[in-house]
Amino acid sequence: MERQSIEVVNPYTGQAVGRVPMETAEDVQQAVEEAHEGAKVMRVMPLHRRAEILGKTAQKLLQETETLARLIVSEAGKTLREARAEVVRAAGIFQLAAEETRRLHGETLPFDALAGGDGRTGYWTREPIGVVGAITPWNVPLALTAHKIAPALGAGNAVVHKPAEQTPLNALRLAEILFACGLPENALHVVTGDGTTGDALVKHPEVPFVSFTGSREVGTRLPGRAGYKKVALELGGNSPVLVTPSANLTDAAEAIVRGGFAVAGQLCISVQRVLVQEDVQEKLTAELLPRIERLRVGDPAEETTEVGALISREACDRVERDIASAQQTGAKVLVGGKRLGDALYAPTLLREAAPDSRLAVEEAFAPLILLIPYRTLEEAIAIANATPYGLNAGIYTNDLREAMTAAREIVAGSVMINDVPTFRSDLMPYGGRKQSGLGREGVRFAMEEMTEIKVVCFRTL
Ligand code: ADP
Repeated sequence: MERQSIEVVNPYTGQAVGRVPMETAEDVQQAVEEAHEGAKVMRVMPLHRRAEILGKTAQKLLQETETLARLIVSEAGKTLREARAEVVRAAGIFQLAAEETRRLHGETLPFDALAGGDGRTGYWTREPIGVVGAITPWNVPLALTAHKIAPALGAGNAVVHKPAEQTPLNALRLAEILFACGLPENALHVVTGDGTTGDALVKHPEVPFVSFTGSREVGTRLPGRAGYKKVALELGGNSPVLVTPSANLTDAAEAIVRGGFAVAGQLCISVQRVLVQEDVQEKLTAELLPRIERLRVGDPAEETTEVGALISREACDRVERDIASAQQTGAKVLVGGKRLGDALYAPTLLREAAPDSRLAVEEAFAPLILLIPYRTLEEAIAIANATPYGLNAGIYTNDLREAMTAAREIVAGSVMINDVPTFRSDLMPYGGRKQSGLGREGVRFAMEEMTEIKVVCFRTL
């Protein structure tokens, strides 16, 4: 039977840039079996050796920044600037994982601190979980892959990685780099394919941990498909930023435009809703409009482009539909609101979207921002929380009490004070509440999830 394959297409030009196999459940089965062989080698590999492989990979990624960045541009349609920053970020994640690997240890346990523990001493330690199944999306393909593979290997696991069908080429190159830097055979398998390939990995009984980053639709159903195993889910968001009257509006506008239109708004922590206190709404709008109008939208491969393409023509169709339906229920377009190409949409600012419209509630994954006025902070927090998501949030204020109230009351994985929710550091615990996910990434935190704790107890009397 002829093997099926997937064509990788440049979202901006529509040209084919590569072709990868469409791997089946049988291929996944073989990859998992071989990964178990790799896991045997990884679990006994000294920490310094694992750290060395990860550190070398970080350096090699940096050396290859330009070629990898151009590969990412061609698959994902993001801008060259964004893609370069992503490669540097991926290198940083590998470097951090190298360092965290050296700190992977437990603690002693004072058993005799409780009655019944007399004459016992011991410790707890972390053991690798075995084979990690990693499923990644197309929007930040290299860095989000690094967030799974680097901690998994550092913690002594083998990995079977299923990259997004839109962006498999950079994942394949990363695997080559890892092997060139000394990763043992079978410690990593990249299986290319679509959701059916991913599903085979999720369901596989010999994959004890699945780490998934992708849509809420697929992610919320994943634990049911996975059965009895650990899962980590990084799903979507509909991130709010609150702008209060005490805020520095220029700073806020500057960051909102960056955070709303990076990767054409296709980030789970993209600024989607700007909740602005009504007394400062006009002023903030005046700060936002010229900044949005000035954005250079176009060919992602051009050095100066600031906003690139959406992932596909279909994604752009969806944005058109979402904006049209928001307009039917009262939303006004302040700037943008038009398609500029097959997969290109103008950065858009909307006002007066109905609170129950799809754009107000669901994840837009598009270059658009909703402006939503509020009266009291309490009301703003209620609006911020009125979605199924709870990933990141932000508040601009110079009032400490307001900052602390928002930090406490917004249901989210992180709350950024005087910054947009789009800020993420790769060392922080990152993940969501509600339907934004389960578990936390961020190198150290991912390593903890990718290990099992074992207690060793010595009876000495
Ligand atoms: P998006 O809508 O952003 O493409 P998806 O959740 O569809 O997000 O895809 C994210 C990743 O999950 C991709 O690698 C994709 O192939 C994979 N995937 C899609 N459907 C499934 C599924 N049912 N089970 C496992 N993985 C899946």
